[in-house]
Amino acid sequence: MHELSICTAIAAIVREHADGRPVDRVRIDVGALRQVVPDTLAYSWEVTVDGTPLAGSILEVHEIPAVLACGDCGADTTISVPVFRCPCGSTSTSVVSGQELLVTSLELCPV
Ligand SMILES: [Zn+2]
Repeated sequence: MHELSICTAIAAIVREHADGRPVDRVRIDVGALRQVVPDTLAYSWEVTVDGTPLAGSILEVHEIPAVLACGDCGADTTISVPVFRCPCGSTSTSVVSGQELLVTSLELCPV
C-alpha cells in the first residue's frame, strides 16, 4: 500500500508538469532508505494510472544508495540496512543520501 500512495503522489506531480500532454515515460529517483521495492513500484504505477490520461506510461525507477557521513572521521559510507553507525564506531553521523523521492524527468509522446 506504501507504493500505491507514492504512485498517487507521483501521478499528481506528473499530471501537473505534463499539462495535458501525453506521457511516455516517467523517471524517478528513490532513495534506498525509502524501503521501496522498484518492481513493486513499477507495478503499482500501472494500477494507479490505469484508466487515467497517464495509462500506458512507464515508470522507470532509479534507486539511490543510502550514504552516511561520519561527523568524527569524515568518512562517507554506503549502507544497505538502516543502521546509522560509521564503521569507525561513531554514531555522530548524518544521512547524505537515501531519502530521495524525486521525479527526475518526463518523456512526452512525440506529437
Ligand atoms: Zn567515522
